[in-house]
Formats: sequence, structure tokens, C-alpha cells
Amino acid sequence: MHTFLRPAAGEVMEQVQRTERTDWYALEVEEVERRLSASHAGLDTAEVRRRRERFGPNRLPEPAQKSDLVILLHQFTSPLIYILLIASGVTFLLGHYVDAAVILAAVLLNALIGFPQERKAERSVRALMHLVAPKARVLRDGHEREVESGELVPGDRVLLESGARVPADLRLAGATGLAIDESMLTGESMPAAKRIRTLAEGTPLGDRANLAFTGTVVTSGRGWGYVVAIGSGTELGAIAGSIEHEPRTETPLQIRMRRFAHVITLAVVVSALLAFGVGVALGERPAEMFLTAVALAVAAIPEGLPVVFTIALAVGVRRMARRKAIVRRLPAVETLGSTTVIGSDKTGTLTENRMTVLALWSGGEERALEEIPADESDPAHLALLAGVLDNEAEVYESEGGERSTGDPTEVALLVAGAHAGIDHEEARGTHALFAQIPFESERRYSATVRERGGHHRLWVKGAPERVLDMCTALQGRGGREPLDRERVLAAAHEMAGRGLRVLAFAWNDVPAPPAAEEELPEPRDLALLGLVGLMDPPREGVPDAIAAVRSAGVRVLMITGDHASTARAIGERLGLAEPGAAVLTGGELEALDEAALRGAVGQISIYARMAPDHKLRVVKALQANGEVVAVTGDGVNDAPALRAADIGVAMGRSGTDVAREAADLVLTTDDFVSIGAAVEQGRITFDNVRKVTFFLVSTGLASVLVILAAMALRWPLPLLPAQLLWLNLVTKGLQDVSLAFEPGDPDLLRRPPRSRKEGIVSRLLWERTVIVGVVMAVGTLALFRWELDRTGSLAEAQTIALTALVVYSMFHVGNSRSDHRSLFRLSPFSNRFLLVATGAALVLHVLALYVGPTQFVLRVVPLDAAAWLRIFLVALTIVAAVELHKLLRHEPRGLQVRRRPAATPVPEERRA
Ligand code: ADP
Ligand code: MG
Repeated sequence: MHTFLRPAAGEVMEQVQRTERTDWYALEVEEVERRLSASHAGLDTAEVRRRRERFGPNRLPEPAQKSDLVILLHQFTSPLIYILLIASGVTFLLGHYVDAAVILAAVLLNALIGFPQERKAERSVRALMHLVAPKARVLRDGHEREVESGELVPGDRVLLESGARVPADLRLAGATGLAIDESMLTGESMPAAKRIRTLAEGTPLGDRANLAFTGTVVTSGRGWGYVVAIGSGTELGAIAGSIEHEPRTETPLQIRMRRFAHVITLAVVVSALLAFGVGVALGERPAEMFLTAVALAVAAIPEGLPVVFTIALAVGVRRMARRKAIVRRLPAVETLGSTTVIGSDKTGTLTENRMTVLALWSGGEERALEEIPADESDPAHLALLAGVLDNEAEVYESEGGERSTGDPTEVALLVAGAHAGIDHEEARGTHALFAQIPFESERRYSATVRERGGHHRLWVKGAPERVLDMCTALQGRGGREPLDRERVLAAAHEMAGRGLRVLAFAWNDVPAPPAAEEELPEPRDLALLGLVGLMDPPREGVPDAIAAVRSAGVRVLMITGDHASTARAIGERLGLAEPGAAVLTGGELEALDEAALRGAVGQISIYARMAPDHKLRVVKALQANGEVVAVTGDGVNDAPALRAADIGVAMGRSGTDVAREAADLVLTTDDFVSIGAAVEQGRITFDNVRKVTFFLVSTGLASVLVILAAMALRWPLPLLPAQLLWLNLVTKGLQDVSLAFEPGDPDLLRRPPRSRKEGIVSRLLWERTVIVGVVMAVGTLALFRWELDRTGSLAEAQTIALTALVVYSMFHVGNSRSDHRSLFRLSPFSNRFLLVATGAALVLHVLALYVGPTQFVLRVVPLDAAAWLRIFLVALTIVAAVELHKLLRHEPRGLQVRRRPAATPVPEERRA
């Protein structure tokens, strides 16, 4: 999806296109800077504003939206509409001009009601999906900022890191191990290695190694460069027209729903034709019988369903957004409702990702952080210095106080260094940077070569086991000393047991500076400087959210790159696992085959030292066990796991562009609590769709039974086609929509997840549908017959029958609000929309009875107070009947929560 693209003013685009014609790859960086008036420090705010006015936003034309016309035409493309159009034509040929006109009017009215609803739902869903705007890291006023990609201007200095989508065309001026996947432009699937060397003129696009192109993806390394083209001036812009845009996806439920509606329609058409045939054979007049058959079809087809479904989804998406979960793919809304396992990252999702260094171990002992002298012979000082030098983060003063950019772990190291008197800007100034291996989760360490006074030195930091494997000595006060691995590991283990994230630091002298652009070889023969322990407090609200999700029958797993002990300690604090609970590490996982892994994932809640491909295996094993899996991820290499999962969840703040694009759901504040909320809302949405379906099908059945019974008894038709259209399209049309806004049953989160295979309408509700159909039909027929016998006026009796069904439906909306809770235990004010809509439906109907034009078209007459009273009393029977059914079937199967083991009993050998 390239949603960062939107048209700009024509004149401005010309400018950008002119700059694009320059062969930037053939110019020296200094020349590029000169032509763009750019510098290392980045542009300043005033200059950025000037350039934005001149060049416009960095966007390409947006993919065409569904136009109003398309949405309007869509209103005329349902099976019911076809039937009605045919019916109208035949009615016209039969000479019933008024009826023909009424049916046509109903078709138009249906479109008029559906159009704004569908349009609004469509627009709001799109707007919400676009909330996840791509971001770019840029240097402005000398400091790193994160801005929306659309705000970039030519000359901006942009920073790239693995996982980022390149936000504009760049001439690179710095690159370390930088590789970019350019397949979308060149078709070449291998990532292209990037260099900054100036190239000869005429170098083909695929070989322009010193350019980075908009829309391509950084697969590894770091780099920076100047923006040389934006918007349609970019290489992507040149071909944007030919790029496929994501098709609009229908949810599986929507597809099933459409089929359901088609089946019902077909059944209705067949039975209507049958009724027509039987009637004519029994000697009824064909014209009369035709009207009856049309009435039958109109009564039975649940035409409100598709529109209400769209609205229910839109309501769900909107509510999730309010809880900071942005839905990127619509089917996620319903899959969330049947999620059985959530696999969550620890850092940033379950915890704050606000790190503080709490412990320091160096030279064989634990040291107090406040008492480290700025003494280069002290290994503790060197450890902190390593933390500052092998570090990509920045802390600086600005108007708003202290600000920082970069990985929170690294920010914490800068802060700790500052406490020990190390100024990071000064230290980085005296130790010039030569080359680096930036931190990536799967590598679990980072390294930097820096030069001071002609000496080159390698500084390394990373996970203790990883760094220890590269060490052959311990740094003491006097120099290298023998290394006691076990002691170091014991110290690391002890820190991890306190819930701290542990990093080890090491160094070594290296002979000659390697070429800055090449990847450094894996470090070896290092001297260990020390360990630090960082605290990352659990996020507020997460323990409650975990408890709530678990009581809803959903398992929560923690999947982290951290050490097993750290993970377990935090897991306990969050209530995710019991003390001493089993932990599966990446190393252990590799030793398991598929079957053993399937067994393990059924038991274990904490996964430590997990690399992205381990995460993918865990997801697949869970799915093989029949689980519906939601999993979080933030890095480039998390994308496969996010795609494989039923729900991929990415971080809006800390995640990479690649992860966000692979995800179904994006958490704007990275917070686990939002996942819980999304699962809850997913269930509510599905439940609401089910309520609407039940409401429409059961009331539809009632109308059908009324007509069939009248035919069987050879009574006059109790309801005319026009009246049924009024009932189905107008009064029920208002009532059903309001069910899409139901706030959700409080019990919903105490039930186990819905099985994905479960039908839309449960057995319980089918049973209730039959009861409702019969009760309503009997009441309506009784009122009709009684009135007909009493007054002999068919119009009056028909008006009574129609009004009875309107009032029945009004009460029945209340019944439909919950499957098993009494109507009287639901607050009428928890869904104000419902209150207003049902009220409005009644008012409209009353008006229709007393106003000339509708009286004429619908063939209705005013009713007196006694008639109204009779209707209301009879209609109340539907409340009584459904209440009784709820009482009798008050504990339907599946209501009790399937108890999930909170944490597994620990096999002895797994402790440790
Ligand atoms: P998480 O899943 O919690 O985000 P990471 O993959 O980020 O875990 O980190 C895994 C391990 O890598 C940590 O336990 C730590 O030892 C080490 N580590 C984390 N961040 C850095 C960093 N910036 N530099 C070096 N090592 C790091
Ligand atoms: Mg991390």
C-alpha cells in the first residue's frame, strides 16, 4: 500500500520533476549538498516550511476511492431489488399502476436509506485505516526527529535503518551494511547492497548503488542520505499508475452472510412461485395470487442484512480505534472475536520500554552505579564508556526539556554514562567512528570500531551468553585477566532473576580500520568489561488486561528476545505465569521437532531468547493445535510471523514500517491493553451481527407465516405487498441498524472464544426464531380476523395486522439485545441509538396512518385508541414468550468458561 501518495499542485510538481532529471548518482556528495543547499546538520524549520510551500507534500496520487456513484449503484444490485423490479413490471402489466409505482418507490427509498449509511461506513473505515501514516527519521535543526513521510522536502537529511520503507528518493551519503530490497522497482528479489561511491553517468537504475528509492525496504544495516526527489518526481512516482492497489477485502463472515442471504432468497423465490402455482390451481385469480407471491418474497428476504453488516463492522473498527487499535484489514474484526491465543512481545507491549540501569557488575564484583570514577583503568568505567560509544541513541536538551531518540535500552546507557561523568557527545567526538555492526534482534549484539590517537578499538555490547562467547579474558584494573565464565554467567543470571534485562560489554584493540561500508566480521578474542542490568517496569493496566483476557478463555504468551530468567520474573509480576513456571528458550526450541513443539506450546506461556524465525515456528505449532493466534511483532524479520498468524499485530510507535504493513492490527501506543480491548470488541461485533440476523430472520418468518396461514385458511390477504415493503424497508430498517450499536453483553468476556466454524445463528437462536415466528403470526392473524369479523372492513383489518407487526418488532428489538439475559436486566440507556431508532420507527408508522398520501399508497386507515391498546397488549406476548424461553434455556451449553490452566506445573528439568 502506498498511501503516502497524493496529488500536489501541478506547478509545484513540475519543480520536483525538474530536480528528478538530475543524475544525482553521478555527483559527489559535496556537489549534491551544494545543489540542494543541504548540510550534515539537516535543514532548519523555516527552510523546511519554505521548501514545502514550493515543492508540496511528498505524496503520490491516492488510489481511486469508491466513488459515490458506485456506492449508489451498489444499492440496486441485491437479489431483492431484482425481484422487486420484476414484480413492479408485472404488476404494471396487470394494470395495478399504483402498486407498481409503490414497489418502484420502495426500491428508490431503499437506495436512499442505504446509500448514506454505506457511504459513511465506507469512508470512516478508510479514514481509520489510514491513521497509520508512514514515518521517516530525519535531521532537522541539528537533531533527529520523526516526521510523517509526507512532510519530507528535497534536501532533508534522512536516516535509514532496517525495517524502514524508504520515504523519498535519496542520494546516500552514509551506509553501514546497508542492504535494500528493490524488488518492487527492479523485480530483483535479492536485496541490493548500498554504497556511497559516486557512479559513472548512464549507470542503469538497478545499479545505482548510491541511491535509495521511495517505497523500497531496508532489509539490514543503517544509512543516511539527502532527499533528491519527492512525490511523483520519484522513481516510484514514475510508475505509480501501474502499481496494483490492495483489493477491498470482504470478511469471511461477510462472504458467508452473502451466501446465507442468497440461499434464503432462492428458497423464497421458489416457495413464492410454488404458492402462486398452488393458488392458481386451487382456482384463485392469477393477478391476486401474483400479488400474494410478491408479498411473500418481500416479507421473507432479509434485505437489511448486508447494510447492517457493513455498519456493524464500521462501528467495531471505530470503537477499536478509540481503544488505540487500528484495524488494517477488515476480516481482522471478526477473527479477533474468535482468537484463542495471544502471543505478545514483552518489551514495549507488556512493559513500558522505559529502561533504567539499576545494576552494574565489573571486575568480578557488583559495583554501586553512583561511585564509578572517571578513571580509564577501572573496568566499570570502561563498561559504561562501551555503553556510550557502541550506541546509536541520542539525548539532548531542547525547549521542552530533555529529549531522546533511539532504542530505549541505549538511551538508558547514555543516562547511566552521564551519571558517571561521561558526556556522550564529547566521548563520541574524541573516539571517531569507523565502522559498526548495528544491533538487530536476531544477532543479539552490536559492535563499533572507533579511533582515538591513532589506535583503533572494537567496542561490543549484547546479550551475556553471546558476548561471552567472543571473550577470552576479563578486563581487570591492570589489564587482561583470566576469565571465569561460570562466575560471569552466575552474576548475569542473578540480575535476570530480579527481572532485569542484562547486557554485557567487551572490547579489544584491532589492527587496521576496515572499510567503513563493509560488514565487520564477527568479533572475537575480546576482554569482558562488565555487565549492566536494566529495569523496564510493567505497563500500567497490563496485569488487569491479562487477567480479563484469560478469564475470557484466551491464553496469553510472552515471546521475548530477553533471557529466560528476566522473562520469567516479569511474567510473574504480570500474572502471566506462576513462580517457577516453565520457559522455552530459542535454543531449546531448535532441538524440538514439530510434534514435540506442538506439545510444548500447549503448555508453556513464556518464550525467551526467541529470534523471529522461532516466533514463526511457535505460531505455526499453535495453529496446528487448532488455535486462532494473534501475535505481535516489530522488526523486519517479524513480518513472516505476522503474516502467518491469524491476527498479526504491529507496534505503531516502535515498530518498523515492514511490520506495520504486514499486520492486520496496529497498536498506536504499543500497549497490550489495546489487544485485549480489540479482542473484546471483535466478540461484540460478531455478537451484534448475530443479533441483527436473528431479529431479521425471526420477524421475517412471522410475516411469511401470516401470509401462508391466511392462504391455507383461504382468508383475504392480511398484508399487502406495499405494506410489507413499508414494514421491511422502513420500520424494521430503522430498528435493525440500531442493534449494530449494542455496547456488548457484560458476559461476553466470561465466555470462551467462539469457534470459527460456528454458524451465524446458534441452535438456541434457531429454536427461538421458530417460537417468535409462531407467536407473532398467531397474534397478528387473531387481531386481523377479529377486526375483520367485527367491522367487515378489510382495510382496517389489514392496518391492524401491519401495525401489530410494527409494534411486535419494536418489542422484539429489545428481546434481540441479548441471547440469554432478560430484557429487564439491560439498561435501555446503554444503547441510546436503539431507543431513538425504535421510537422514530413508531412515530413514522403513526404518521403514515394519519397522513393522506401514505394512507392512499399503503391502503391504511387511522386506528382508534381501543385498537392501539389491543395491539400493544397482544404484542407484549412476544416479550413474555422470549423471556420464558430465556428462562427455560438459561444456561445454554458452552456458556461456562472452559478453564485454561493458568500456568503449567513445571517439569523439574525445565526449572533453571
Ligand atoms: P525483546 O524481545 O525484549 O525486544 P530484544 O530482541 O530486543 O528483546 O533483545 C534481546 C537481547 O539482546 C536482550 O536481552 C539484550 O541482552 C540484547 N540487547 C537488547 N537491546 C540491545 C542493544 N541495543 N544492543 C545490544 N544488545 C541488546
Ligand atoms: Mg527489542
